[in-house]
Formats: sequence, structure tokens, C-alpha cells
Amino acid sequence: MEKITAVKGMQDIYQPEVRLWQHIESLIRSEMNTFAYGEIRTPIIEKTELFVRGVGDGTDIVKKEMYTFTDKGERSVTMRPEGTASVVRAINEHNLLNSGEPVSKFYYIGPMFRYERPQKGRLRQFYQFGVECYGSESPFIDAEVIQILYNILSKLKLSDICVKLNSIGCPECRPVFRQSAEKYFSGIKEKLCGECNERISSNPLRIYDCKTPSCKENTEGAPVILEHLCPGCSGHFEKVKAALDSIGIPFTVDPRLVRGLDYYTRTAFEVTSRHLGAQDALGGGGRYDNLVSELGGPKTPAIGFAMGLERVVIAMKNQKAEPDFTGGCRAYVIPLSKNESGYAFKLLSALRKANIPSQMAVSEKKAGAHFKDAEKLGADFAVIIGEDEIKNGALTVKDLKNRSQKSVSESELTEYIKG
Ligand SMILES: [Zn+2]
Ligand SMILES: [Zn+2]
Repeated sequence: MEKITAVKGMQDIYQPEVRLWQHIESLIRSEMNTFAYGEIRTPIIEKTELFVRGVGDGTDIVKKEMYTFTDKGERSVTMRPEGTASVVRAINEHNLLNSGEPVSKFYYIGPMFRYERPQKGRLRQFYQFGVECYGSESPFIDAEVIQILYNILSKLKLSDICVKLNSIGCPECRPVFRQSAEKYFSGIKEKLCGECNERISSNPLRIYDCKTPSCKENTEGAPVILEHLCPGCSGHFEKVKAALDSIGIPFTVDPRLVRGLDYYTRTAFEVTSRHLGAQDALGGGGRYDNLVSELGGPKTPAIGFAMGLERVVIAMKNQKAEPDFTGGCRAYVIPLSKNESGYAFKLLSALRKANIPSQMAVSEKKAGAHFKDAEKLGADFAVIIGEDEIKNGALTVKDLKNRSQKSVSESELTEYIKG
């Protein structure tokens, strides 16, 4: 029979790498407890319409990358390509929004799905951690959200991370900027790629993050949104920068950092790593003060980000920032023959009751072969049980790390191994 393999762009995560994932996830959860954010778990599948409206029908995600299908009830459904739209849908549906304080704060961790060309750091099923904050325009909230992303990456011991920050204005000041950008880009039309030519009138902001080298080069002298901010937006931006300074979060202002959709407002940010190569973003986000109302809720200021877990795993491996995960199995219990296996099984149960990670050999082998298995498991101790051991009530415990051996009574075994 031919072997069945995983679907293209989908990966299995298992030992030992899965422990790195668990480490990242538990650090995220503990950090979110400290910041007093509540977790939200939304369904993988949503009505297609949610993403068409919440992500935008002009985006690549909606136009070409969604896993959309008709279910048996003839509904068009989509496997979520990102987290924000679902969270907004849930808070509108369950009235989770407070008016004013306390600010509604959520985080999520889970798989997202996009039909893209798979490559390193980009899969069709990929994992995101995201943070969402609803109900406040306060620049302290912007700074807090950026701090969360920065703190988590720092606590994962990723060095060389860089916070890029920008403000992309609001519906009041953006039209003025758009006009001058349109004028500028129309003048250099023939130097821009085909897609950017379309963007000149539809979405000139997107030209700034086009990856085509000629577009990058030719936008160097283009007008930037920062120079066109209204007093409200520029005041807000100054306060975000001051708040970040006050808590020691380093950042650089990048006037080319943009978000593609109209409901994005003011703060935009991204955290990159020098250990990632071309796809260098670990996470990014910004304000979307007009998204909640776009999805049928009350007008609500909001800010959030998403961080890609695969990217973080790659960056940690590339710079060897993985913690030491040895010691997954502390004790390996070895009955030397069938006669001792019943006794050994009870002893194994006692070790586990004492929360000592342990396993037992279940096949008959020479002692030397058992020790090799114990090493393969990364065990610290081998507990050897033969006829004599049972008769004398004293077990032979081999310390596999310093290659010493000791006789330990059954009643003292758990304490000995714990110590
Ligand atoms: Zn403005
Ligand atoms: Zn371009």
C-alpha cells in the first residue's frame, strides 16, 4: 500500500521540536496573565462573508488564498486565514465590549489557513498568537500592545529584534496625503511595477511596502504620511513614542511601514529579526479604529497584533536560543526478566505518583541494551530490578549521567531520584 502523506503545506510537529512550541506557548500564556488579558477561542471555520468584509475583498488573502468551500448545508464557509475578524465577530455577537473602562483585552493562539506557495517560514496551516484591545484610543494602550510583543520575544532570548513604528493617519488626514502621493506616483508611473500602477488610484499606501526592487528604489523620494498627519494623529503618535521611551522599549520610526486596508488608523508597527532572512517579520499590527463598525458593531477604537509562531521557532533555532530540554524522562525502570515485571510496574506507578517522569522497559533484553534505550530516552537514572533486588528490598540505581551506581531501598527510591 502506498503511504499517505500530509497535505502540501501542512506540517506535523513532534518531539523534540514540539517542546520548543510548548515553551513558547507557555511563556505567552504566563505573559498574558501578567498583563491581565483573557484568552478567546473562536472556531476554525466562519462564514466566508466575515473575511470578505473583515479582511477586505481587495486583499490577496480574500482574492486568492482562502480555504473556502460549501458545506453540506449549502453555506459558503472559510477556514480562518487570520484571527482578528473572528474576535471582532465574537465580541459583537456576545456583547463583550465594555463602554469605556475596563478596556476589553483578548489574546488567542491557534492555527490559521492560507493557500499560499509553501516555503520556509510560510505554510498553508500556520500558527498565530494575537492580541486585541478594544474600546480605547489611549496611546498607553498602543505602547502596552507593542510592549507585549517586545517582551515575549525578548524573554524567548531572541536578540537582534527591531521594533519599527509608524503612524498612517486617519480618515481625516489620509485623503490629503493620498492626493500628494497620487500626484507623485503618477509622475513616475513607468518606473513602478504593474500592480503598483493599479494601486496609484486605488490604494497608494500599498506602494510603500511593495517588494519589487524598482518600486522600492523609486519611492525613496515619495511623500510620506508622517508629514501629512492631522494634529490629532501627530499628537497621538508623539505620545505613543514617549510612552515607549518611558518604559525602555527601543524602536525606530519607519515611514514606509503601512497597512493596506482603510479601517487601519494611526499606529502601525512590526517586529523583525535579523536571524530570519528575507521574510524577517516576527509579528506586526496596528490600530483599526474602524473595523468593529465595519463588521456591524458600534464604533470602537481597537489595536492589536499577530505573531507567527513558525517564524519565532525558526529565529530561535537559527540563533540557538532554544532552552535545554534534556531530562524529559527522569527514570527508566528495567525488570531483568518477566518474573520482575509485575513488581517493576508497581514501582513505575509509585514514581509517577510522585510526579517523576518515568518509563519502563517492556521487552526482555540484555542489560546493556536496556541502558542504551534509557540513554535514547534521555533518562537520568536506570532502576534495575532483578531477583536479588526483590529478595533484598534494595534496588540498583544507575546514574546515567555520572556513570555511578548505588543500592537504594524501595522506600527511599522516590526521594533519591528527586534529589
Ligand atoms: Zn488624522
Ligand atoms: Zn510595485
